[in-house]
Amino acid sequence: MAELISIQEARERVLAAVRPLAAEDVPLDRALGRVLAEGVTSTVDVPPFRSSAMDGYAVAPGPPAELEVIGEARAGHPAAVALGPRSAVRISTGAALPAGADAVVPVERADDAAGNGRVRVPEMRPGENVRYPGEDVPAGTLVLRAGAVVGPAELGVAASVGRHALRCARRPRVQVLVTGDELTEPGARLGPGRIYSSNAYALAGQVERAGAEVAGRHTVPDRRDGTRAALESALADADVVIVSGGVSVGPHDHVKDALGDLSVEERFWGVRLRPGKPVWFGTHGATLVFGVPGNPVSAMVTFQLFARPALAALQGADSAARRAVAVLDEPIPRNSWREEAVRVRLRAQADGWHAAPTGEQDSHMLTSMLDADALAMIAPGEGAVAAGDRVEIELL
Ligand code: AMP
Ligand code: MG
Repeated sequence: MAELISIQEARERVLAAVRPLAAEDVPLDRALGRVLAEGVTSTVDVPPFRSSAMDGYAVAPGPPAELEVIGEARAGHPAAVALGPRSAVRISTGAALPAGADAVVPVERADDAAGNGRVRVPEMRPGENVRYPGEDVPAGTLVLRAGAVVGPAELGVAASVGRHALRCARRPRVQVLVTGDELTEPGARLGPGRIYSSNAYALAGQVERAGAEVAGRHTVPDRRDGTRAALESALADADVVIVSGGVSVGPHDHVKDALGDLSVEERFWGVRLRPGKPVWFGTHGATLVFGVPGNPVSAMVTFQLFARPALAALQGADSAARRAVAVLDEPIPRNSWREEAVRVRLRAQADGWHAAPTGEQDSHMLTSMLDADALAMIAPGEGAVAAGDRVEIELL
């Protein structure tokens, strides 16, 4: 590890290496979580026609009156009549207003109890309880921006303007490799000196949460040739390769050498960060390769800080960290030279967000990630950050 760089510098090097992925048309019912490659401009007015906001009677505006009910307009079934000044049409919410009407008397304010085909209505102003075309979206409006992540509201708005497909960035294909002779698949019996492989699952979960696709998941032994072979086939089918473990300086850490054998170009190795110092990043053509430390918390934290922004940027989404400030509820000792990413739970208080560590923070204590809402980023230095101090947090 030559010179360790800052988190900021490491992120910049990652983002500088990103080449955004191509776009494809995605049917609306598959587009949740995808990133828009193009803005969506409506070609239609929403709502498309003058319609009723209430169940009641469509009338011409005017003074109180007794009117003849000459028809009915239901949602999807406009009334085939035009209103005169002495007539009304029974109307349902969402039904088209008949010609001649420009107000709707809510059923609660109309007196049709006589049952003689007539209704007494109060004074009505023009436009009362009427929805006009384009009130939500006038035709020609840009309703969704390129780079927006498609959530339920985006799906709904796209559908409301009649779009059945959206142009989205291709989902990044990510190969997840975990290295270590000690690793055992959950469900199998643990032999002596072995542990269950948690990184394969935690990292794959993070990949999917980032909108990307897990193209493969492989466990790799601590041998240089085996590591090289696994990385070689991963590189052949990936936009991003994430390999956990084996990036430190031990005699059985083969990842960097194997990546070197495959001409993956190192962009950095080592960040002034705790946990996650030995994180490695390189490129192979347009493919991004992240070597994350094997310690499960380090793996997840370095994914969050470096791989997640890359997956966002590959899709053209906002890759900026979601940062905020929170009041610390417990003192946290500072690391003398590394920025520390402390897993915290957040609570909303009258004076803003409060953060409390999730528990023991060692890099092998994976349960510290449970219920973590954010990483509190503790700057290096002497002493401790006191309870009550404000710290920067990165939302997970
Ligand atoms: P390494 O980075 O390979 O030196 O591994 C650091 C620590 O993380 C060791 O205690 C490993 O056993 C552990 N570790 C490595 N890979 C995994 C994994 N996939 N799941 C859980 N722990 C792991
Ligand atoms: Mg290892």
